[in-house]
Amino acid sequence: MLDDGSKLRDVSILADEGAELAVEISVARLARLVHELAAPTGTAVARVQFSRERGFAVAQVQAEAQVELICQRCLQALQVAIRSDSRVFLLHAEADAERVPADAETMLAPEGRLRMDELVAEELLLALPLAPLHSEEQLCAARSDDDSDLPPVEEVQRPFAALGDLMSQTKRNEPMRPNKRR
Ligand SMILES: [Zn+2]
Repeated sequence: MLDDGSKLRDVSILADEGAELAVEISVARLARLVHELAAPTGTAVARVQFSRERGFAVAQVQAEAQVELICQRCLQALQVAIRSDSRVFLLHAEADAERVPADAETMLAPEGRLRMDELVAEELLLALPLAPLHSEEQLCAARSDDDSDLPPVEEVQRPFAALGDLMSQTKRNEPMRPNKRR
């Protein structure tokens, strides 16, 4: 059954049933994810399979979405398909984290309740590339006149160089001032 993930679910019941949920969520509604995007466009689809492990409700979350990010080389918009497939232990309290495997992903489900859109947003957030760049097939504005993979740091440095010039000019002009006062 397809839903938009906005309903608060009892994950204990879902885990005991071994339930599987399919959700389709407008990216614009994934507040935490949208905050990291260039535009609130696209749709996230996810399949969440529940099970029980070490007494905890566990969700296997397969999620994907096409999102708009900013290319770190040319600073233009960039479409990126992000994908996540991870197993998440759903904890009633922070203290429960001590009882799950050290490398396990966890998420709080207070009183055993959780919205699927929050779970999916969290997983997609983790799937975002740290430094998104246009790929070889995509047109990167920064690559048209420069094959270098380095980010355009020169632009940032120029104002300081100009300031240095200005300061040395001021020093050279200083001996002139006493003459002007006469
Ligand atoms: Zn680019």
